[in-house]
Amino acid sequence: MSATILDGRALATTLREEVAAEVAAFKERRGLTPTLALVRAGEDPASVSYARAIAKTCEQVGVGFSAHILPAEADEAQIVALVADLSRDPTVHGIMIQEPLPKGVRPTAVLEALAPGKDVDGVHPVNAGRLAQAAPAGRGEEPADYFVPATPAGGMEILRRYGVPLEGKHAVVVGRSNIVGKPMALLLLRQNATVTLCHSRTADLPGVCRLADILVAAVGRARMIKGDWVKPGAVVVDFGVNFEEGKMCGDVDFDEAVKVAGMITPVPGGTGPMTNIMLMRNVLEAARRQSEGR
Ligand code: NDP
Repeated sequence: MSATILDGRALATTLREEVAAEVAAFKERRGLTPTLALVRAGEDPASVSYARAIAKTCEQVGVGFSAHILPAEADEAQIVALVADLSRDPTVHGIMIQEPLPKGVRPTAVLEALAPGKDVDGVHPVNAGRLAQAAPAGRGEEPADYFVPATPAGGMEILRRYGVPLEGKHAVVVGRSNIVGKPMALLLLRQNATVTLCHSRTADLPGVCRLADILVAAVGRARMIKGDWVKPGAVVVDFGVNFEEGKMCGDVDFDEAVKVAGMITPVPGGTGPMTNIMLMRNVLEAARRQSEGR
């Protein structure tokens, strides 16, 4: 038996068309272009290449894009001033601050300068807090007045579009970062899954993973999760982006896991292509809210 491949690349293509149509309709209706501003200090190669990919996606869906690059040695005051300026600029709807920040710059100080309503990356404590306090789905639908980080939002969208039932299922998330693992756990919890959140100090990680109906990997260690950690028929979502001898691979040993799982995201071509398009959705939503004075 071989698992169904959760094809994030194909899904992202569909979503790109959907978002492009929504952006065009918004421009027509409101006469303004949803715009993303990207902030970076220095030229970290991974950040530069990620920024290039974001600029391309913006162009594909008709979202405006501007890059604000400071020197690598920029200090906290300079970065804070730039983020505060962009937060006040009415032509900017979404702001994304790329890491790494220069040594000595406190991420909390930078985040304080960021308007929560423009935090399309979902990293501001206001957005993270609202996600943490969100009511379970189906129980007092609250207005979605917060932004969710794009990567876990993309993973959830894959599960939704493939019709994976979550309610009452045991979801195990490996990795507890603020941009991937923790928000993914909260999103699964909101969809009424029973969630176990694992990390580097978890005892008997293989044993915990084997209990998962939905197994999520957000670790950053090449092929760490083996086929015999996967419960037969489980749905596996792999956020890992690792390179082995120049080849991209996930946190899950795909060749082993694909024989055991019921469904699995490949790397590349799974969760990765979804991230930028979910970011575009957030920029459009931010522009919508701002144009309505929300
Ligand atoms: P972080 O390094 O911030 O977090 C890694 C998490 O994995 C931590 O919680 C850490 O535990 C845990 N961990 C590390 N080693 C182990 C171990 N041996 N056993 C169990 N848990 C472990 O990474 P990110 O969350 O930023 O990224 C995770 C992966 O997702 C990376 O491969 C990254 O490249 C990828 N990524 C993919 C994106 C996409 O678009 N698909 C976007 C962003 C990231 P502890 O907290 O105890 O230290």
